[in-house]
Amino acid sequence: MNELKFKQRRKNLVSELREKGISDDTVLNAILGVPRHKFIDTALGERAYEDSALPIEMGQTISQPYTVARQTELLGIRSGEKVLEIGTGSGYQAAILCEMGADVYSVERHPELYERSRELLRALGYRARLKCGDGTLGWSAYAPYDAIVVTAGAPVVPHELTRQLKIGGTLVVPVGDSDKQAMLRITRIDENRYEEDSFSDFKFVPLIGKQGWDG
Ligand code: SAH
Repeated sequence: MNELKFKQRRKNLVSELREKGISDDTVLNAILGVPRHKFIDTALGERAYEDSALPIEMGQTISQPYTVARQTELLGIRSGEKVLEIGTGSGYQAAILCEMGADVYSVERHPELYERSRELLRALGYRARLKCGDGTLGWSAYAPYDAIVVTAGAPVVPHELTRQLKIGGTLVVPVGDSDKQAMLRITRIDENRYEEDSFSDFKFVPLIGKQGWDG
C-alpha cells in the first residue's frame, strides 16, 4: 500500500477520534503526521489505522490511538516543553510528542524494545532521548519535567515521578488493578501540594518495577 493511502487512513482515524471526543488540534495534527504503520510489524500494516491496540514484541502492545490521544491531551503540553515518557514500547507515543515539538525523554525496561525504538525514531528523524531501565524511578538526570506520561498500568502512583515534576507540571498515569485502570492527572501545585483528577477506564499492560508491579 502506498503512503498516500496511509495518509488518507490517518485522516479517517483523526475524524473518528474527533467523534470520540478528542478536541485538541495539536494532538490530532500530530496523529495525522506520524506514520503509525512504521511502528508495528508489517504483517499488521493493514490494521495500523484502526482505533485499536496491537501487539508488538516482548508481549507488549502499541496503545490504542484513542488512548494515546487522550493521554496526550491530558498532558496539555506546548512546543518546547520537556516531557518524560515511561514505557517507550514501539516508540509511537514518543514520536507523537516529538511531532508536537516537545523535548522528549523516554524510558523502556526491555532492551529489545529500547534498541528497536531508538533506531526507528532516529530513522524517521524524531529526536527523542531514550534510556533502558526502570522508569518507575523516572530519569533524574534530566528532571524536572513539564510533563510525565506513563504508558503502562501502575498499582499506585510512583512517587518518584511526582517528585520529578516542575511546579505547575503534570503527571498522567493509569492506576488500578490488572483488569482496568483509572487515568489520573496529577498537577504539582507547589513543593509539597498536588491536585488530582481521575478519568476512567483504560486497560494497559503492567508497569513493572520498584514502584510498579513485581516482575
Ligand atoms: N508508549 C508505548 C506503549 C507500549 S506498552 C507505545 O507507544 O508503543 C508499555 C511499555 O511499558 C512496554 O513496552 C513495557 O515494556 C514498558 N514498561 C513496563 N514497565 C516499565 C518500567 N518500569 N520502566 C520502563 N518501561 C516499562
